[in-house]
Amino acid sequence: MDMNVKFNNLLSRSIFIFPIYLPYMLLIKNASQLLTLAGGIKKEDYELGIIENGAVLIEGEKIVEIGSTKELKGSADKEIDASSKVVMPGFVDPHTHLVFSGTRENELYMKLQGKTYLEILKMGGGILRTVRATRNASKEALIKESMRRLDYMLVNGTTTAEAKSGYGLNYEDERKILEVINDIKHPIDLVPTFLGAHALPPEFKKSGEHIEYMKKIIPKIAPLAKFIDIFCEKGVFNCEESKEYLDEGKKYGLVPKIHADEIEDIGCTKVAVEVGAISADHLVKTSDENIELMAKKGIIAVFLPATPYMLLSKEYARARKFIEMGIPVALATDLNPNAYTESMQMVISLAITQMHMLPEEAIAASTINAAAAIGMKDKIGSLEKGKQADLIILDAKNYQQIGYHFGVNLVEKVIKKGKLVWSRGNVLH
Ligand SMILES: [Zn+2]
Repeated sequence: MDMNVKFNNLLSRSIFIFPIYLPYMLLIKNASQLLTLAGGIKKEDYELGIIENGAVLIEGEKIVEIGSTKELKGSADKEIDASSKVVMPGFVDPHTHLVFSGTRENELYMKLQGKTYLEILKMGGGILRTVRATRNASKEALIKESMRRLDYMLVNGTTTAEAKSGYGLNYEDERKILEVINDIKHPIDLVPTFLGAHALPPEFKKSGEHIEYMKKIIPKIAPLAKFIDIFCEKGVFNCEESKEYLDEGKKYGLVPKIHADEIEDIGCTKVAVEVGAISADHLVKTSDENIELMAKKGIIAVFLPATPYMLLSKEYARARKFIEMGIPVALATDLNPNAYTESMQMVISLAITQMHMLPEEAIAASTINAAAAIGMKDKIGSLEKGKQADLIILDAKNYQQIGYHFGVNLVEKVIKKGKLVWSRGNVLH
C-alpha cells in the first residue's frame, strides 16, 4: 500500500465513532493501578484512591463493583485484561469552545513577531475572524468540523466535555451553535454553555450595547444551555456588565461561569463571588486578595495552561497559591482556534511543568474536580459503585507516567457508559 494512503487511513481506522456493543457485564481486571478518585471533590489532599491489581465490574452503563482483582466476586460475559496498565476515570474537559469554523494558524506568525492577543483582536483577527467564519457556516458544516474534534478528544481519553457558544454573537448564530452542541451524536457527552458575551461584534460600538442586546435574547436562548459565561476582561466586558449579564442568565435558570483575569485582574473574581459562579476560569493574573475571596466562597478555579502556551507567554496561573488556599482546582483544554488542542494529557503535562502542579493534583483536576466544575461530580469523574462507567485504560505502569511520558497518546482503550468506544488499532504493524 502507498505509504501516504496508509498514513491518511490511520486516524479514521483507529476511531470508532459508534459504540461496539459488548455483552451486558464487563470486567476490567489486573490493572497495575486503578485510580478511583473516590470521595468527592479534592482540595486539601489530592488522594487518588489507588487500588493495586485493581478490577472494575460494569453492568450496563454503571459500575457495580470495584476492588482488587482477587477480591472481586462478580462474573462477567466479557473481560479486559489491564495488566501493566493504569485504569482511571475518563477525562472531563470542563472548558471548551468546541464549535467553530476554520483555524487561525496564520496568527502564530503575528505572535512570533510579538503581537499580543488584544492587538490581534483589534486588527480584526482572533475571535472576530472566527466569528465571521462561524456565522457563514451551516449547521451541518459546524457539526462536521466539531465531530472531528470530538474524535480527537475521545481518542485522547476525554469522555465528557463542556462546550460553549460564543462565535455567533447574535441570536441566530448563537442559537445555531447551541443547537449543534445539543444535537451532535457522539459517544462524548456535551454540556452546553451560552457565551453570548465572548467579544464585541462589529455591529455594536460599545460593550454596553452588546450586553443590552444579549440580555434581551437570554430568555429565548436559556432552554438550550446549562451555564452562562462571559469574557470579563479589560477592553472586552467590564465587571458591571458581566454582573448584569450573568444575573440576567440566572433568572432563566442558567448557572454562571466566568472568563476571569486572563490578561489583567480587573476584579472579575469578585463578580464570580457576587453572582455565585460555579467556576472562574483562566485566573493567570488573579491577585492574592481575590484568590482569598474565591477561597471563602468555594468557587472552583479552572486553569487553562494551553492558552498561555500558545500565546507564547511565560506566565501561567499561580496554581500553588490556589491549592495552598484550599481552592478546588480543575484543568481544561480551552479548545479553540487560538489554543488548538483536544488533549487533556497535554494539559496535564503543562500543568505539571509550567504550573508546578503535582501529578496527583493534575489528575484529580482533570477528572473529579473537572466534573464538579460542570455540576456533574455525582455522576462522573470517579470510579465508584453506582457511578457511570466512563473509564480509560492507559499504557502506563503508574499514574506518575501521565504528563511525564509526554507528547504521545497513552490512552489505549476508552469505555463510555459501559461500552468500549475506542481501542488503539494496530495499523502500523
Ligand atoms: Zn475560553
